[in-house]
Amino acid sequence: MTLVERDRARLWHPYTQMQSAPPPVPIVRAEGVYLYTEDGRRILDGISSWWVNIHGHSHPTLTRALADQAQRLEHVMFAGCTHAPAVELAEHLVRVLPAGLTRVFYSDNGSTAVEVAVKLAWQYWANQGRHQRNVFVGLERAYHGDTVGAMSVSADSVFTRAFTPLMFPVRRVSDPYCFRCPMGLTRARCAIDCLGGLEAELQRHGESVAAVIVEPMLQGAGGMIVWPSEFLAGVRRVCDQYGTLLIADEVLTGFGRTGRMFACEHAGVSPDIICLSKALTGGCLPLAATVVTDAVFEAFLSADHSRTFFHGHSYTANPLACAVALASLQLFQETPVLEEVHRIEQQLAAGLERLREPPIVGDVRHIGAVAAVELTGPDGVRRPDGYLDQIGPRLAAAFLERGLLLRPLGNVLYFMPPYVISASEVEWVLSQISEVLRELGEPRGG
Ligand code: PLP
Repeated sequence: MTLVERDRARLWHPYTQMQSAPPPVPIVRAEGVYLYTEDGRRILDGISSWWVNIHGHSHPTLTRALADQAQRLEHVMFAGCTHAPAVELAEHLVRVLPAGLTRVFYSDNGSTAVEVAVKLAWQYWANQGRHQRNVFVGLERAYHGDTVGAMSVSADSVFTRAFTPLMFPVRRVSDPYCFRCPMGLTRARCAIDCLGGLEAELQRHGESVAAVIVEPMLQGAGGMIVWPSEFLAGVRRVCDQYGTLLIADEVLTGFGRTGRMFACEHAGVSPDIICLSKALTGGCLPLAATVVTDAVFEAFLSADHSRTFFHGHSYTANPLACAVALASLQLFQETPVLEEVHRIEQQLAAGLERLREPPIVGDVRHIGAVAAVELTGPDGVRRPDGYLDQIGPRLAAAFLERGLLLRPLGNVLYFMPPYVISASEVEWVLSQISEVLRELGEPRGG
């Protein structure tokens, strides 16, 4: 039996429709921006292996850090014990994070980083006897993960719908989706009017709001929606005005993806709680951190057990993952990582313009090392199925045939490479996208 046949007999992959899924791609090795298959194909990883990889696959600095750490201490529980990789990583994170974020709580993945943030925000108010602050506000098209708390703060979508009765209610307000402006405006004629939804919500119910949660500057799974930075600045301003906490979910945007180390920097704001994962380890191992301000941390300082944050995972602060994360952060110091992101951003800005041409292209947008093309139906109308739009799998198959791994979000095709991708590789990807979109616009069989 081949690897794929054995996989099919025993495994269950995320987000895979059982009856119609294409066979998984059997990967045996990866290096730089390339994945190598069992049958000898080379595939460019155009989505950084689900948005985690930044320095390229099998980066020697990261694999060396992993091997070195594995020789000393592979794991120890983090309740009551500590170790240098966890401490040094926390110190380094606090140095590079937006000002005021000082206390690091480790977990394992993006969803748990959010789960921790939500529970911390809730208990922060409860610990102060302010139990009425017990509601969360989230944005339209938000995606914060697949655990129940993270699903609850996420917007209603194909990812959450089957579980609606399990989830707690969250107030939902407009996101700044400029291509489909909720106010019917264009960016040239708007004064970030879409912030009015959040403002009105906090004006009316602010006293009951524990926290507002956002994916700053780039809403990923909701359709690669790129924000005007003024919206983010406005979110911070109104959260301050109505005294609520701001949670920035930078699980996707952290570590340079949007052109700044953290997306909050685009608006010069600091959240009260930030969620980090994905590229925290450079894309090598699972690890997450939820980092909070002194003020949040101090609400848990008490001799009273009921104020304790009773949350911990077996692999919290795993030394291997912490050592690799530290090595990844050191690469930011020692090599021009953010300059590479700027180089990619400039190339995408220029290259994307030519992707506007096919009539099925409604919008192109980019930020940092992320580019997105939103496909529309006839006359620019929204295609009906969003994430479930079958154009997504069709496109993915066409790109895979050309040696390019892309995984469209339904009608939103995006490209999010590791930062080590070369200029000629970016150019190659853009021409593949251009050709496939042109073919798609041609009549079938033509
Ligand atoms: N938050 C954001 C913004 C994400 O994009 C994701 C995953 O894509 C998550 C949270 C959940 O992360 P994970 O898949 O590691 O649980």
